[in-house]
Amino acid sequence: MESRIERLCTASGLRMTHPRRVIARVLSEAPDHPDVQELYQRTRAVDPRISLATLYRTVHLFEQSGILERRNLGSRRARYEPSGEHDHFHLVDLDSDKVIEFDEPETEALMHRVAARYGFDLVSLRIELFGRRTRHNTESRKTPQGSSSTPNTGDQVR
Ligand SMILES: [Zn+2]
Repeated sequence: MESRIERLCTASGLRMTHPRRVIARVLSEAPDHPDVQELYQRTRAVDPRISLATLYRTVHLFEQSGILERRNLGSRRARYEPSGEHDHFHLVDLDSDKVIEFDEPETEALMHRVAARYGFDLVSLRIELFGRRTRHNTESRKTPQGSSSTPNTGDQVR
């Protein structure tokens, strides 16, 4: 069965060579937003003959053809995801580089109204949030001289 990205490739008139097919499959199966190094590990697991140079060329070609979108999600390396997915936003964990996707229809509607206010039709929308998990979610964090984790805010126990 053709993967989603393979179908996009065929629709764009790309000739599907074996490496392109493998790379398209790996991309279709990626639940995250892999960068090229991560993609390389995954394509190597499928077919170790696909070189990093071929991977770079193919990703670039897919990007040029509008099949893939490059996302600059704060890390040093560009990450990729298929084009034409429904609009969604990204929350990037600055400590782990993990990306959480979320929907925010009210914000989306608001951005459409902002564009309309200036006489524009909104074509694409990017919202990327960058953050760190709050302390009580990262129990392995070092605390200064073993101080208690309860912040001294003067709050009384109810
Ligand atoms: Zn995404």
